[in-house]
Amino acid sequence: YRTVSEFLGGIKVAKSLNVEASYFAQLQATLEKMKADNISYVRNSTIGTAFFQVASVIGLSLFIYIALTRFHLALAEIVVLLLVFMRIAPRFMDMQTQAQQLLINLPAYASMQDLQTRFDAERETAASQAAQGVRLTLDVGLDIRDVSLAYGGLADAAEGKPVVSGITFGLPAGKVTALIGPSGSGKSTIADMLLGLLEPTQGKILADGVEIGPDNRRLWRDQVAYVPQDVFLLHDTIAANLRLAAPQASDAELWAALRAAHAADFVKGLEQRLDTVVGDRGIRLSGGERQRIALARALLRKPSLLILDEATSALDWQNQSLIAKSIDGLRGTMTILTIAHRPSMIAFADWVVAIENGRIVEVGQYQRLKAKSGSRLSRMLSGEQAEPEVADAG
Ligand code: ADP
Ligand code: MG
Repeated sequence: YRTVSEFLGGIKVAKSLNVEASYFAQLQATLEKMKADNISYVRNSTIGTAFFQVASVIGLSLFIYIALTRFHLALAEIVVLLLVFMRIAPRFMDMQTQAQQLLINLPAYASMQDLQTRFDAERETAASQAAQGVRLTLDVGLDIRDVSLAYGGLADAAEGKPVVSGITFGLPAGKVTALIGPSGSGKSTIADMLLGLLEPTQGKILADGVEIGPDNRRLWRDQVAYVPQDVFLLHDTIAANLRLAAPQASDAELWAALRAAHAADFVKGLEQRLDTVVGDRGIRLSGGERQRIALARALLRKPSLLILDEATSALDWQNQSLIAKSIDGLRGTMTILTIAHRPSMIAFADWVVAIENGRIVEVGQYQRLKAKSGSRLSRMLSGEQAEPEVADAG
């Protein structure tokens, strides 16, 4: 199923690249392999059954032969014995088929068990009684202290080399902080840690001085909202998609969130307004509209911390500036971290944190860094790629 749905999903790209033939050949090769596997499976299990049948015929013939020649049984007795045998033989056949099924399913069962053990080992610990109901606050700011993270292999415990190492910075409450850096430098990894989705391998993250740990990570997630680059919309109405974040929200609250995300106008223009079905993965909306719905959904949660991870990188400047305006309007009401490449998405930031290869290379006030020539920010704003110089890399 995965192969076929991937194939169907890629047809448009393949056709536009004029490589239908080789693209189809790839699928064909996979299907051929599956066919061969299937045939060999059927052959093996049929050979097993056939062997069993031949063996039982030989056994039966031997039995009749010995009964007749050695024990001189009467024909009537043999017929009775044969009848008994005929009743019993199908049970043996069944056993043989079941044993075959068992052998086939054993490896799958073993890997499922293995997976389960691995996932259980990684299970998030439930919040302790003491921590329950104690709401974390974010009135002062979020403190990231000497945090490192290495993506570890789950079972083999072979921790990879850290993708984020020893970063320390703060997110002042109510301010907008921009996180910039080249692709692959660890920005999304930092966002995941701040969201309480990834646990730092080392170091601490504190909200108003309280460490976010296994006990209160769930509580913390109640207060954060996240807008990723590829938003996820259900094949449902706009209202249902928004209420995913806040099931109890009234229509008035939905409209308020849409207004704050600069999405109210376009939703009003739709024939069925909040009841418009967005289509599979939101296909009936444009990228910018989807992104603004996602922002409205995030705002509905009334988060203390809002993180936008390259939320507008795929958008045109009009949609980008609409979202930029929304974020600017939220200043002071919540703490915001925006991860972006485009100057327009960081122009309204109060603070800037620049990272490279998982390390902080620059932190400061936006206006100051912008004025300082040679800073990463000013280089980025002047359109120069924030590529590390070769000399720097060593
Ligand atoms: P950015 O968002 O700045 O582009 P990421 O935080 O997504 O960068 O990734 C930083 C580094 O971590 C990359 O080198 C990437 O290959 C690696 N990485 C990201 N996610 C995973 C993962 N789930 N497992 C292993 N390595 C990962
Ligand atoms: Mg990223």
